[in-house]
Amino acid sequence: MNKKIYVTRPFLPPLEEYIPYIEQIWESGILTNDGEMVKRLEKELSNALGIENLIAVANGTLGLQIAIKALDLTGEIITTPFTFIATLRAIDWQNCTPVFVDIDSETLNIDSKKIEAKITEKTSAILGVHVFSNPCDVESIEAISKKYNLKVIYDAAHSLFVNYKGKSILEYGHISVTSFHAVKLFNTVEGGGCITKSKELEERIKQLRNFGFDKTGNISDIGINAKMSELHAAMGLASLKYIDKIKIYRKEKHDLYKKILSEHEKINFQKIDSEQYNYSYMPVLFQCEKTLLRALENLNKNNIFPRRYFYPSLNKLKMFGVDIERLPVAESISKRILCLPLFYSLEDGDIENICKIILSSLK
Ligand SMILES: *Cc1c(COP(=O)(O)O)cnc(C)c1O
Repeated sequence: MNKKIYVTRPFLPPLEEYIPYIEQIWESGILTNDGEMVKRLEKELSNALGIENLIAVANGTLGLQIAIKALDLTGEIITTPFTFIATLRAIDWQNCTPVFVDIDSETLNIDSKKIEAKITEKTSAILGVHVFSNPCDVESIEAISKKYNLKVIYDAAHSLFVNYKGKSILEYGHISVTSFHAVKLFNTVEGGGCITKSKELEERIKQLRNFGFDKTGNISDIGINAKMSELHAAMGLASLKYIDKIKIYRKEKHDLYKKILSEHEKINFQKIDSEQYNYSYMPVLFQCEKTLLRALENLNKNNIFPRRYFYPSLNKLKMFGVDIERLPVAESISKRILCLPLFYSLEDGDIENICKIILSSLK
């Protein structure tokens, strides 16, 4: 096998379907600053997601930073160590202190039973991540937030098109933030969105993404530049009609992986509810890091490049020194988890081959 297979491959709409959008942009002469394409994307995507509103931003990381700023968070933010580095960096850049809570070994999300023990008088919020689109324990988190008067932000970068108890998972928490980065389920090349049900927060987020300008043009807040461009929004618009197909394909490929790999008791999976999952990742759990590394080496030799999402557990970063509390579940999981290639154009034969290499590495 000579072709290289990476963990993912961005979805690209047919070029001829992108061009008419670009022609419209050329005609309007407007490239950015809340133009027609961004407005259309916000509206069409909200409809597709079944949510009231979405505020498009330049990327998910800036979306998280704006969410923290819009809620005026200070002090400590409780979060998970089992996430992409962007979650943590958004907290750092807003001068807040991350406080890690260990994860649940089955859902791989922040363990809500361990949150209360980490709340101090400095805690201002809980920032949960719906890992690989698996919804957090949103009910318990909401109850805790009410009891201690905390804000809740969800990093929903993985969670487009996931419903939980009859509504989009994006509608939970004070603000949810998602990502439309090239490798995500739906992409605008780079991009993201903030979702909130509060009109007041919505206005503030819109100001913050545009240097702090309010509707009348006065500078009334300490904003930043997090605007999405018209060309990026056009990419999203051109891809949107493929989303159902993308979701179906991914689920089929996910099912095929699971069917082959679950015959082996040494491979385990994240505990999911198929109704509340978008199949954007294919995580598999090995019994130990040694086997994972052996499988990874064998896959790499065959030009297959899965990714260690998420490794290391973020509490193990050098910046926290050696004294930081150990988080045994997150540390163990992050050493043993591997995300296998999963994308729209991946072929069944590739999946069968990947599984064969993994299974032969277990011996
Ligand atoms: C991708 C991702 C982000 C960051 O999104 P960008 O749009 O790339 O800035 C944040 N959190 C998680 C969990 C992610 O996977």
